[in-house]
Amino acid sequence: MSKLEIKQIPVLNDNYVYLAHCPESDATAVVDPAVAGPVLDTLDKTGWKLTHILNTHHHNDHTGGNLELKKATGCTIVGPRADRDRIPGIDIEVGDGDTYKLGNAEAKVFDVPGHTRGHIAYWFEGSDALFCGDTLFVMGCGRLFEGTPAQMVNSLSKFDDLPGETKVYCAHEYTQSNGRFALTVEPHNDDLIDLMKDVDAKREKGIPTVPSTLAQERKTNPFLRPSSDDIQTTLGMKGADIVDVFAEVRRRKDNF
Ligand code: ZN
Ligand code: FE
Repeated sequence: MSKLEIKQIPVLNDNYVYLAHCPESDATAVVDPAVAGPVLDTLDKTGWKLTHILNTHHHNDHTGGNLELKKATGCTIVGPRADRDRIPGIDIEVGDGDTYKLGNAEAKVFDVPGHTRGHIAYWFEGSDALFCGDTLFVMGCGRLFEGTPAQMVNSLSKFDDLPGETKVYCAHEYTQSNGRFALTVEPHNDDLIDLMKDVDAKREKGIPTVPSTLAQERKTNPFLRPSSDDIQTTLGMKGADIVDVFAEVRRRKDNF
């Protein structure tokens, strides 16, 4: 199995678009192209030829470059089956449990509804890479525009079995504000306190905080930690159902 070379392209205010290149086959995908221009520029610099677009969900800041890139390169567009009507130019539909091959690199597809009803994630096991769109962020998760807390808890639980070294290639640099919020619900988490010092130093210098790893998220992300004593105590929800705790954390973040 081939190991992908991954390039991170910051676009718009705080979006990250990714190029994933399989060196054995020369296949190259762009994940969630919000816009086309910076993707085409980066392709020029790397000399890679775009063969695929991988979309995680239908929002315009993830699919806005689809049609222009398809026109410019003739690439094939892959996206969520459950949302095929909302993915511009979709050619290949994938869903939960499917395997998708980019050249010689293989991804497992997860349905992860919550942020949108058709949201998916791509896990390239051989490259330790999880492209999770707006489902999981560094110390955060996506807003529940089209789903319920129970759905999102279930979606996030699909990442439970993935190795801790898996890199979380999420689609936004929301880390610093996520972390400030996380400290309000889990103020005694030393890993979180340490991480925020590191994040503040990085952002001061304009350095990306993405990707993180699943191991880091498990230790610091309040949306993966509804069973934390500290969180439950802070919320006054000791022993409550974890979906209710998650929902309360999400509600507070929406108003933060
Ligand atoms: Zn979104
Ligand atoms: Fe987004």
